[in-house]
Amino acid sequence: MEPKAKKIIWILWLSIVPIGFYLAYSFFPPFISGVDFDLFAFFLLISFVASVPMVVNNTPIFLIQWVSLAVFLTFGLFYEMILVQLGIIVLLIKLRVTKQQLYRFPLNSLMFFVCSVLSGMIYYALGGVHGLTLVENPKLLLIAIIYAVVNYALNQLILSGIRYALFKQKQQYFGKDFIWETITSILTLPIGLVLYTLYIEVGVVALLFVGVPFASLSIILNLYYSTEKVNSYLQKAAEIGHELAERLDVDGVLKLFLQKLKTLLPVDEAYVLDKENGQLHIIRMESNHGEFRTFETMKPLKKEEGIGGKVWADKNALIFSSSKEWKPISKEPLSSDMESVLCVPIVKSNEVVGVLLLASSEKRAYEKSQLMILEILCSYLAVAVENARHYEKTKEISERCALTNLYNYRYLDNELQAEYKKLMAAERKKISLILLDIDHFKSVNDTYGHQSGNEILRELATRLENLVGKKGTVARYGGEEFTILLPDVDKQEAFKLAEIVRLTIANWPFTLEQHISENNKKLLVNITASIGVATSPDDADDPQSLIRHADRALYVGAKRAGRNRVAQYVK
Ligand code: GH3
Ligand code: MG
Ligand code: MG
Repeated sequence: MEPKAKKIIWILWLSIVPIGFYLAYSFFPPFISGVDFDLFAFFLLISFVASVPMVVNNTPIFLIQWVSLAVFLTFGLFYEMILVQLGIIVLLIKLRVTKQQLYRFPLNSLMFFVCSVLSGMIYYALGGVHGLTLVENPKLLLIAIIYAVVNYALNQLILSGIRYALFKQKQQYFGKDFIWETITSILTLPIGLVLYTLYIEVGVVALLFVGVPFASLSIILNLYYSTEKVNSYLQKAAEIGHELAERLDVDGVLKLFLQKLKTLLPVDEAYVLDKENGQLHIIRMESNHGEFRTFETMKPLKKEEGIGGKVWADKNALIFSSSKEWKPISKEPLSSDMESVLCVPIVKSNEVVGVLLLASSEKRAYEKSQLMILEILCSYLAVAVENARHYEKTKEISERCALTNLYNYRYLDNELQAEYKKLMAAERKKISLILLDIDHFKSVNDTYGHQSGNEILRELATRLENLVGKKGTVARYGGEEFTILLPDVDKQEAFKLAEIVRLTIANWPFTLEQHISENNKKLLVNITASIGVATSPDDADDPQSLIRHADRALYVGAKRAGRNRVAQYVK
């Protein structure tokens, strides 16, 4: 809401309510004296009712009308106005109104003030009086009911007016909330009448007779709805757990987790810290707008360091209601406008494996009751991340060669199939394949040892990767044979690249450190390679013939022609 609107609300309140109270006192003077204690008892009752809302259908309903009805019928307009205003204060405190929302006090105060005055005047206009029993005066009973209905209707009317004027919210008349509130108000109306009647008959004990059952009912309903709430939270958590388990990549797991968290809790910034080598590293941070930052440069946190380090050390969650509380200990890169922070350990097999830190720009955004659900979610997260890591690692192992870390034949074969599909779908124009075999490699092994042969294979792998880069896929095809798969590269270009590869091998000697010669000095050896090139669709129509034809070019065109050369496939 704009500050200007807030100002207007305060000015309206200041100029109407105090004078209104004065006028109410003058025109409808409180006619009962010596009931200070009784009034105080009513104040206690209204405060209690205001502080224990009935949670119906997940909306808290504050049912102070029935108490205020009894107060009105007993003590008249002036005291009713005062007690209702006090009730509002209790209610707003209970709702934990923040500084920015302070305008809600004058707004509600004004609204109830107008309701009190108008319905009170209608009561008096209809001939309503105070202190008579309703049982013996059916007419008075009728007026009292009219008073209560008018009071409720006015309240709803003004409320929807305010919502429309201030928030441009069109009130959904007869929406779910409205119906629930109306039903509960109708149900509690007789309680107000009974309270009044009983008070006239037996005095202040009436408050206990009526108040205690009402309080019990409120508490029971609250307990019932809080278990309902926990149930639905648990259900949601289980669903999230299932979805997390389906993800096979760590980043996908984290992304989904944070995305789901936002549907359960107010989250403006979320950090996932991973424990590795005895330190906490931020592995993912996300802000409200789905923006994502990594903090590779940030120093990892040690145990006891920052909010995360403390949670790790204590194995206990921490909740902060405002920035004042966490700023002195935080080492995390939280934005300066964050207020509430919730930090929970991610535990697996009784050991902390990471920390989750959530922040909101609102004060007091997190509650203890949310911890259980978060801890369950975090345990799902821990399992899902571990599985995803395991999967990623296994996949890596199954796709790469352990000696050179290049892709292996299995991976190349898959890639080639996939590229062919694209070629068929006209998403690719050409596929070129370079096949390379080191010349006289057996004699390298024989002369310098198998270890040295491995060293050459490793260095060659690095050279090829550096040369090809993102242009294609380098793979170890077999023992000392390598392939380069080049999507959308035509025959001529592939030939040029093959020539560069050949020169890069032939012109620069390879360094051997683990050779079997007598002295332990580094050795430089020159090697050469023979290379065959084939291209689809020019030379082959399927993956197998592309490989076969590149191989044929290699052996017939390069090896047999004297080695250390590049040959193209010729039909
Ligand atoms: P050319 O290709 O020029 O005809 O001669 P070559 O000596 O290279 O012959 P060939 O390709 O038939 O021999 C391959 C040799 O490569 C056999 C084997 O000792 C060696 N080799 C294969 N895999 C490895 C490996 O992983 N490490 C080492 N050190 N040597 C390997
Ligand atoms: Mg070979
Ligand atoms: Mg060879």
